[in-house]
Amino acid sequence: MLFSMHVMKNRLIVIAAVIFPLVLIVWAAPFSRREQGAAAVSKPGDGGAHGASGEVLERLKEEWARNQKLLASFEKEQRGLRALVIEKRKLHQDGAIPKAEVSEAERAFVAALMQIQEARRTLAETDLALAEATVGDELERLPPLAVNEFSETERLSRFNGGSSWSLKEAPKVEKFFSQNFGHNLPISAYGQTRTHDRMGFDHRNAIDVALHPDSSEGRALIKHLRDSRIPFVAFKNAVSGAATGPHIHIGKPSVRIAAR
Ligand SMILES: [Zn+2]
Repeated sequence: MLFSMHVMKNRLIVIAAVIFPLVLIVWAAPFSRREQGAAAVSKPGDGGAHGASGEVLERLKEEWARNQKLLASFEKEQRGLRALVIEKRKLHQDGAIPKAEVSEAERAFVAALMQIQEARRTLAETDLALAEATVGDELERLPPLAVNEFSETERLSRFNGGSSWSLKEAPKVEKFFSQNFGHNLPISAYGQTRTHDRMGFDHRNAIDVALHPDSSEGRALIKHLRDSRIPFVAFKNAVSGAATGPHIHIGKPSVRIAAR
């Protein structure tokens, strides 16, 4: 019996569409989920002005390290499931097992793939948020910039673009990027996330882009932001205990609010 790869691919897509919501709920549970929402903002200088406590950061770093290990075990599991799918397809072709058994193995495989995708996304988001928190003190000590002024240190560069930037402008930047590079802007945090809430950062009007500022795409994005007068902070070498997150934060630097 012929069972072409093309048919298999289509089948996987259909399965993925059907079980996607379930997978997110069931399999992503160990990872905190991306959330957008309002943070309780207190003015700088309030009690929360010292930002994320060392304790919160330590906890987040531990979580990050734990999730990293979990991801490795998901990946191992997924490799096993892939082998199982191949084996069951062959058995089915030989008439040894019913189609339902193949479908079951395929479902488990697709679920594992989605689990891994979500785990990677959560890790990247936390990584960059931790990098910002780690460099946050240095950022706060730097002298304020004039409108449209750019400055650079070894670890970061920043630009105080004078345009009226908010999250509503983000699609324009995404469009610029996809038109020039043929793929989506790799956004790891779009506005406020639960991680930012916990760290006590107001990230409501910022997006984090997982691009190294010195990469060709990173440089092109930075040029575009400067030409468009869009404020940003580029984290070049933000090394902390667990998380190392070079990236580009589009928007004003995060104001510290009360950590939760
Ligand atoms: Zn950011």
